[in-house]
Amino acid sequence: MASSAYPIISPLKTAFTHRCPQCGVGALYVRVLKIRPACTHCGLSFAEHDVGDGPAFFTILILGFAVVGLSIYLEVVMQLSLLKNLSFSIGALLLLMPMCLRFFKSYLIAIKYKLHGSQEDMSGGAHAPRIPKKGEL
Ligand SMILES: [Zn+2]
Repeated sequence: MASSAYPIISPLKTAFTHRCPQCGVGALYVRVLKIRPACTHCGLSFAEHDVGDGPAFFTILILGFAVVGLSIYLEVVMQLSLLKNLSFSIGALLLLMPMCLRFFKSYLIAIKYKLHGSQEDMSGGAHAPRIPKKGEL
């Protein structure tokens, strides 16, 4: 089925719902952080939208800043003991890290799909990259 039959879905909506960036129905994940090989609804291959270490980079950047800020706050303002400070910080990391990784993984897959489309789109679908003609440059 051609991707032009599907509505355009915002990458942020994909990131929050963890659904297929093409149809918006099929689940993106098998387990917490494992991406399905393909959409169960429309058949879009997620394997061609590998985002590499991008989600880990953004998660480390944002969570590192937030958790170090929390730790400094707990130390300076609340004056908690080292053990309580570490348990709050590590607990926050363990709770927020999978959520952040899922969000950024979904978001980057949706961005990559929006920019590059799928392999079947390369033959002229709605998301196919437009190659400028000789006189347009
Ligand atoms: Zn789909």
